[in-house]
Amino acid sequence: MTRTLEPTLQGAAATAPAPGPLPAHVRVAVVGSGFAGIGTAVRLLQEGVEDFVVLERASSLGGTWRDNTYPGCACDVPSHLYSFSFAPNPRWSRAFSPQPEIRAYLEDVAARFGVLPHLHCDTDLLAGTWDDDALLWRLTTSRGDLTADIVVSGCGGLVEPAYPDVPGVGSFAGPAFHSARWDHDVDLTGQRVAVVGTGASAIQFVPAIAPQVAHLTVFQRTPPWIVPRLDRAYTEPEKALWSRVPALLHASRAAKYWFRELQLLAFTDDGRLRSAAQREARRHLARQVPDPELRARLSPDYAMGCKRVLISNDYYPALVQDHVEVVDCGVREVTPRGVVDASGREHEVDVVIYGTGFRVMDIPVARCLTGREGRTLGQEWSDGGVQAHRGTTVAGFPNLFLLLGQHRARAQLRRVHDRGADQLRPGGPARARPARRARARGPPAGAGRLQRGPAGPAGRHGVEHRRLPLLVPRRERPQLHPVANAHLHLPAADPALRRRGLRAPHRRPQHRPLTHPSRKSTAPWCC
Ligand SMILES: Cc1cc2nc3c(=O)[nH]c(=O)nc-3n(C[C@H](O)[C@H](O)[C@H](O)COP(=O)(O)OP(=O)(O)OC[C@H]3O[C@@H](n4cnc5c(N)ncnc54)[C@H](O)[C@@H]3O)c2cc1C
Repeated sequence: MTRTLEPTLQGAAATAPAPGPLPAHVRVAVVGSGFAGIGTAVRLLQEGVEDFVVLERASSLGGTWRDNTYPGCACDVPSHLYSFSFAPNPRWSRAFSPQPEIRAYLEDVAARFGVLPHLHCDTDLLAGTWDDDALLWRLTTSRGDLTADIVVSGCGGLVEPAYPDVPGVGSFAGPAFHSARWDHDVDLTGQRVAVVGTGASAIQFVPAIAPQVAHLTVFQRTPPWIVPRLDRAYTEPEKALWSRVPALLHASRAAKYWFRELQLLAFTDDGRLRSAAQREARRHLARQVPDPELRARLSPDYAMGCKRVLISNDYYPALVQDHVEVVDCGVREVTPRGVVDASGREHEVDVVIYGTGFRVMDIPVARCLTGREGRTLGQEWSDGGVQAHRGTTVAGFPNLFLLLGQHRARAQLRRVHDRGADQLRPGGPARARPARRARARGPPAGAGRLQRGPAGPAGRHGVEHRRLPLLVPRRERPQLHPVANAHLHLPAADPALRRRGLRAPHRRPQHRPLTHPSRKSTAPWCC
């Protein structure tokens, strides 16, 4: 069911308090209330599953878009695409909307689709252990214990701020904070500010704070590839048209989707398209940075696509200002007075801001979930690197689904529901097939070198390498998710339910068996 969101995106009002004590048992425990968690909750409701909770450790929902409040914070995927397909929003103010709007959108979706009664804020999942006899997860939270047949982790990948691994972090005498924990009480006006890091967040807040500060020192480790940001404010007639003719909104979304998919060709072809994309990025740099010496320091020396490609129209112009300095030799140490660069020069500052990203390979949920063999996810991953079948299930962790962002949640649960459990093979599917594993090992061959990108202990990246669907041979196109089918057996589609939207009568939750429907045994499959 698709609902077009109308202008009343009232963020704060949508955040409800926790609905009383936790139930003793639920069919599904969704952890996290970002896009993944909220999307999963909506999908469960659409399928008539009401016996679930959304556990959120913070005091309100929103995930990334609640935590990142730094000046200039916005999405870098067009808003018509960076939103749920079932809840298109014709009122986005810009092509790339700012953080407050995205947060309000998520809160509004949660309220409109009936997720709030299931939301338990201030509820931190501290531990989860699979009970192989009872065939359920035993969960310990900061607000008590519960059990769940199924755990869906929407804990996010970009949740735990990362700080530079240099001596003295924490010793700085003045205010120091991470971009994901922006301290709005610190007035930067007229201050000498050090920014450590030049990633996706820094290139958004550096231009926003530069006009305010007396002096800005930007510490760069690896210069990012930056391409123009095709941003603009949407006009009222455009928004009115999208409101009245939802098909146009869908068309806009589809156009953006295919445009971005085609951009992927730049990273998957034999190099010509990538070269063209790199030339365009270099032209962008040349147009905005006239000084050849600074330009050289801002020029990446690795192939585009090895590291996240950034979009900005105002980052380079911010750096060319007289009171802004780029230090590209790295950080040796942080002292009570400032930051010492790798050449030994100390930069005295009043405020230090870390734009150093997140601990993506060290997510806390990996330490707190214990699977069938008494091993935590973290231990499982410490051997072979962070990996999951189709980015979602891990052998030895039955009825656990790892989600990220908004698209996977919906697509996966839809697949689970629509396709049934017909492609299950015991023994195999919990582990990625060799071909898929090979593709999961990071950038395509010949894509150049990644200087210091995050990788697992085995150097593998825990994401699937994306290819344009039409370019993928049929036999390699995504298939049914077998493990998901094995365990997440949702009620059958009900046309009446779909017609009535989410106001369907409560269905009796099916607690067990969590097995392939064709089997008599209650033993879980595969994992
Ligand atoms: C500044 C910034 C900009 C971004 N821009 C884009 C973009 O433009 N396009 C894009 O595709 N992606 C972007 N991302 C990535 C973004 O994180 C994902 O798109 C998406 O929002 C992730 O959603 P999620 O629900 O998986 O995780 P999150 O939004 O991170 O939500 C995870 C939630 O889980 C909660 N949680 C974690 N652990 C526990 C626990 N143990 N118990 C209970 N709750 C827990 C957290 O508090 C949080 O609320 C951006 C990220 C950042 C930081």
